[in-house]
Formats: sequence, C-alpha cells, structure tokens
Amino acid sequence: MARIVLKFGGTSVGDIERIKNAARKIKAEVARGNEVAVVVSAMSGATNQLVKWVSEVSDLPDPREYDVVVATGEQVTVGLLALVLQQEGVKARSWVSWQIPIRTDGAHAKARIIDIDTTEMARTMTAGEVPIVPGFQGLSPEGRITTLGRGGSDTSAVALAAALKAERCDIYTDVDGVYTTDPRIVEKAQKIDRVTYEEMLEMASQGSKVLQTRSVELAMNHHVRVQVLSSFDAALGSDLPGTLVVDEDEIMAQGLEKSVVSGIAFSKDEAKVTVTHVPDRPGVAAAIFGPLAAANINVDMIVQNVSLDGSSTDITFTVPRADLVRAVQELEQAKADLKFAEVQSDINVAKVSVIGVGMRSHAGVALKMFETLAAKGINIQVISTSEIKISVLVAAEYTELAVRALHTAYDLDAA
Ligand code: ADP
Ligand code: ASP
Ligand code: MG
Repeated sequence: MARIVLKFGGTSVGDIERIKNAARKIKAEVARGNEVAVVVSAMSGATNQLVKWVSEVSDLPDPREYDVVVATGEQVTVGLLALVLQQEGVKARSWVSWQIPIRTDGAHAKARIIDIDTTEMARTMTAGEVPIVPGFQGLSPEGRITTLGRGGSDTSAVALAAALKAERCDIYTDVDGVYTTDPRIVEKAQKIDRVTYEEMLEMASQGSKVLQTRSVELAMNHHVRVQVLSSFDAALGSDLPGTLVVDEDEIMAQGLEKSVVSGIAFSKDEAKVTVTHVPDRPGVAAAIFGPLAAANINVDMIVQNVSLDGSSTDITFTVPRADLVRAVQELEQAKADLKFAEVQSDINVAKVSVIGVGMRSHAGVALKMFETLAAKGINIQVISTSEIKISVLVAAEYTELAVRALHTAYDLDAA
C-alpha cells in the first residue's frame, strides 16, 4: 500500500464531466489499496476571470483582498470533487487552506508555504477518507488568505506530498508528460521518460510552465518523486505512464543514456532594461540592483560592458515583464544619486534556453546554439549561462523559429 498525492490541474477539472473523470482516477487508485490525498486547481479560466474582476475594480488592489478573491476558484472544485466522489461511493471530504492549515509567509499573491499541519488529515486518511485540498491557497501569519502565485497548485501538491511523506506526487494535466519543449509550439517535441530535478528546475524557471518552478525546488529539496501525466489517458498514475522527475542517481542507476541537451524552454514574460552611461566605479552595480531587490523584483540576465574610456558603461538586464513599470520607477528614483544618462526598456524580447546535465561534460554546446541562431539570421541580445543551461535573449518575433531550429540542431526532433 502506497501513500500518494494526486493533483488535477485546471483543464483536468474544467467542467463537470472532467471532474467525474478525475474522480474515476481517484477511485481506481483507492481500489488498488493506495492511501490517497488530492489537490485541485480552479476550473480552467476561473482564476483568470477572478483576476480580471479584481482589475476592473482597482488598479492597485490591496493584495490581501486580491488573494481573498482569486483563491475562491479552488474552493468550488474541492467541494464539487468531494460531492462526486461521495456519489461514487468513495469516502471523501473537502478542506480549505485555513482548516488544515497550510501556513505561508505574508507575501500576498506570491506566498511561500512554510508548514502544512497534516496531523488531522493523516488521521482521516488512515481511516479511509480521501482529503480534497485546494491548491494555490494558504494562510498568512496574520490569519489572512494567501495565494502562491499563478500555477501554484503544483507547489501545494508537492508540499503536501512532502508533509505526508508520500511515495509519489502525480501531477495530472493536459499533456502526457514533460516534453523536450512545449508540444504546442513544436510538433516534433518528444516525451521524456525521466528528467532530473535540476533539469526540470531550469526548464520550469526558464519558461516551461508545465510545473511551477517552486514546486520543483520543493520536490528536489524534499526528494519527492513527481510524475507528470495526462488525466485524459486511460493509464493510471501507479502504472507510471508519465514523466518522472527524479534524482540524477536514479537515472544513472538505470543506465539510461542522457543526451547532452534534454530540453528547450522559452519565455515571453521578460522585459529588457538598459541603464546607459553608468559611471564606472565600485559600488555602482550594487546601487542599481539594491533598490530592485528591495522592491522584490527578480533580475535575471545581466550584462555589463567594459567601459571604453574608463569613465562610464551601459548595464543591461532582464526583469519579469509584469515588474517592468515598477523597475523603471525604482531606477528613475535612483537617477539623481547614480548619475547615469537614461533608462531604456524593451518588452519585445523573449528568452530561449537550452538545458541539459550533459553540458557539464561536453564542449561546444554554446557554439552550436550561436551557430544555429546565426544561420537563421537571429540576433542575440544578451547571453547568460549556468552549469547546465545556456540562455539567450532575442527579439520576440523569432521565438518559435529559434526554438524549432534549436530543437532540430540538438537532435531532439521525434522521428
Ligand atoms: P495545468 O492547468 O494542468 O496546471 P498547465 O497549462 O499549467 O496545466 O501546464 C500544462 C501545459 O504546459 C501544456 O499544455 C503545455 O502546453 C505546457 N508546456 C510548456 N512546456 C512544456 C514541456 N516542456 N512539456 C510539456 N508541456 C509543456
Ligand atoms: N488556479 C491557479 C492559477 O490558475 C493555480 C493553478 O491552477 O495552479 O494560477
Ligand atoms: Mg499549471
């Protein structure tokens, strides 16, 4: 008997028929003798609608009230799923975040889970009841409702799996696994059977939204085995039909051959900022990035040129597009002190990344990327690398072209 957490994403609970389909999967896992806890998202589109309503009443909403509104989508689906399961003869009950509780920090709209008290839930599971838990929501130290950031139900599910010491966390979605790149963009993308936490973390953080980045981070830190699989296929999670996200050791132990590049990710959610004629002296970079960090704005790629005349230089970097206005405001405020010339910004950019643990031991991976893009006439604006990833910033209109060309160049196309 295994304890497993099942998570159903928005499309997998998108209407009543799909909720019934999810209930059948849950019932089948219970019938196999497994102890099951379930996390659900809001119905697909529901959270977008809630966000839209908030924006219609306020330009700068009180984040606490924003969270009260957007967290409600998940309350609908936990109740509906519990009702359907009961009708199917499965003992089930819904929970909401404050009843458990799922404790988070107070960073509304992007809260982090601190602790899940599973005492009572584990007791009900042992007694044969299936708990249905809302993804995305938490409870702040002040006792207010928080949300975990868009796509956050993945993180709720992995955190619950860690807290319950579950054997596996099955993420049911609308694709049958993690692919070498987004299958909606590249038809020849291939399903990956096993991917390491590290690669999945890079893929998610570089734009592959099949899993929320934070969920992969949590899975890696707590060694939660995660499976991504389709809720529309007949196969059951326990037969392992999807993609397993696991430790590198597990992949090596199975003798699976790893290609140098495992996947290609892209993101159009970036914006490029250039601060021109920055005086070239110690402390300037800290003075530029300090206020951005203080404003909780994540800076990603950074380039600073050597100044030709030794007096001033340009610094270019990327921020999430949603934070661009705030970033520019922060920099304008620092202008008098820093004495740079101006702040330029560009939202017409996309970041394309190639990812693979095999890069650690292979030379020439970056060169192949640059040559491939050059052959397509795509100009590279900024480059950044990590041990297992190379990212480039290009004009947004070339995103699909770049992703497809790189997919072919690294031999990832399906036959
Ligand atoms: P859910 O609502 O179930 O959480 P999401 O829409 O958040 O589902 O995530 C699933 C989607 O992620 C897929 O439909 C697919 O278009 C997209 N996606 C992006 N990159 C990848 C990838 N590398 N592999 C699989 N799916 C990906
Ligand atoms: N419902 C939330 C969203 O749409 C959380 C999730 O689905 O993961 O972002
Ligand atoms: Mg998702």
